[in-house]
Parts: sequence; C-alpha cells; structure tokens
Amino acid sequence: MNGILLISLVFILILCQGNKPAQDTSQRSEIIQPQKWWKNLPRPKYSSLKRMKVSQEWYEVYQLTDDTLAIYEPYQFEEAISYLLLGKETAVLVDTGTGIGNLRKLVTELTDLPVSVINTHTHWDHIGANHRFDTIICFNHPECIDKLLKGVDNTQLRPSITGDSIWKPLPKELDTSSWESPSVKPSKILEDGDIIKLGGERKLEVIYTPGHSPGSICLLDKKNRLLFTGDTFFPGPLYAYPEDVNIDLYRASIDRLNGRIEEYDYLCSGHNDPWVKSEVIPRVARAFQIIMAGEGDFKQDGDLRRYYFEGFDILIRTDMIKD
Ligand SMILES: [Zn+2]
Repeated sequence: MNGILLISLVFILILCQGNKPAQDTSQRSEIIQPQKWWKNLPRPKYSSLKRMKVSQEWYEVYQLTDDTLAIYEPYQFEEAISYLLLGKETAVLVDTGTGIGNLRKLVTELTDLPVSVINTHTHWDHIGANHRFDTIICFNHPECIDKLLKGVDNTQLRPSITGDSIWKPLPKELDTSSWESPSVKPSKILEDGDIIKLGGERKLEVIYTPGHSPGSICLLDKKNRLLFTGDTFFPGPLYAYPEDVNIDLYRASIDRLNGRIEEYDYLCSGHNDPWVKSEVIPRVARAFQIIMAGEGDFKQDGDLRRYYFEGFDILIRTDMIKD
C-alpha cells in the first residue's frame, strides 16, 4: 500500500514538474529589467564607433581597432557583446552571445582566419553559439567544464525570448520550440596566467577573476591595451546577486584588475557597451566598499537592491551586504 502511495506521489510530482511554466522574464523585478528598457537605446557610445555592414539584422558589428570587432545583440534584454580578435595567424572569438542569430555565418563574413572560441564564463548568454564552432576553450574550473558539457535546454532558454525580453522580431531561421544550446566539449582548458598567441605580436593573457561566476576570467591584450572583462565588469547593472556569485571573490577580482590598471586603457565588456575607459575599475572597487559600509543610493525590491553609481549600477542581495 505504502509502495503504491509512494509511486503515485512520485508520478504526481513528475507531472507537476512537467507542467511547471518556465520563469517569465517579463515578470522579473523592475529594478533588474525596467519596462520598455529599449527606450534608452541606442546607447550614446555607439554613435562614435565605426559600424560594419553585415548580412544579419540580429547583429550589429563595430570596429574598435584595426583588428578588434565587437559583435553586439541590441534586441535582447541582455545586450550581449562578443568580440572577434584578429591576429596574423588565428582569430579568437571572445564568447558567443545568446545563440539567437547564426554567429558562425557572421564570423565567416568577417574573417578567413581559423577561429577559436574562448568563453569568459559559461552563463547562457556567453555560450549560446558555441556549438557552431569547432574549437572551444574555457577556464579550468569544474563549473565551466560541466556547464559546457551539459548545454542549456529549451525550457531554460525560452524565457529569454518571450515578453519584454526582446523588442525586435527574432531571426526567421530560429525555431523557438527546439532552440537550445547543445552540449560542447572544450578542446582546451586555460589556467591563470596562460598566454594565447594569435600570431604577430598579438597575445592574450588569462587573468582569473572569479566572483560573478566561479570560473570567470578576463583576457588582457597588452599590445592594444584592451581588457576583455566578460561579466566581471559591464556598465550594468552588474549582476552581483545570483546564486553563483561570491561577493568576496568578486571584490578581490576587481581589486586584482585595479592593481594592473597601468596595463590597459579600455574595457571591452560582456554587455551594453564595448568601449569603456579603464578609469571605471577603481570606482567599482570603491562602490563595493560603499555598499558594504551600508552607504550609497539604492532602490529595493524584496531582498534585492540596485545601487546607482556614475557610469554603472550594481545589483546585490541584502544578505550579501556585510562590512
Ligand atoms: Zn554572466
């Protein structure tokens, strides 16, 4: 009898799971995703950047230097930015965005060089088009490797293309009912301090910057004085609230970047704006100090706070705030 009851209960539980609607991001807190967030686009910075013609409407491509291109996705709330770095012998694609467009096709229009993908971390909006490329490189952290091997299924991805999360039509080629980020196997893993050579003088140094996620890295291009920050910095709001954030590590990583500020002039960030002056980094370090000291201007919704600073915001949970 107990056995039958248990089996029935398990069956009911499975049914409930199956019917559980995906979280609708249009219901997300106003302090994370303001209504009609796209009204503030285009961001002013883009008018000063050189835009390149490409065949897919989903992407906007901007030339930052002779051999550095920003691939921007302005029609989805995350405003993801990937970067194509051209060397003399090979190219590196820093992150692959949401996967909504056909990034492989786009990259083929931009370079003939062999392309390796390096993920700054493995949140869905940085690995979306990984599966379209042959060489995927990530940091040597179990969280990164596991996430790439698992992929992201349609149920997890669907909320990011529903409601107010997008404001322009999706590409016709995207089948929303089967869209997923398939499992990929990393071809190579990176350690802190590794140097990736692109041919000629172009090299990237791996700087391990955990905090936003356990396996986050930044990539330093010393010759061009650029720092590719992934989500360790973007204008915002900086996501310092999700479950996988470690606020102490995050602060230590910002301090580490601050300690090397003489080596870069611009930050090429994972969202919103691809060309941010490096002077913001010491201000981010200071901002975390201000928040932890119980100061600073914020809006609150439940246990979530959005702090406002000049040029960036920070989203943090109240339980993370401690001196
Ligand atoms: Zn992220």
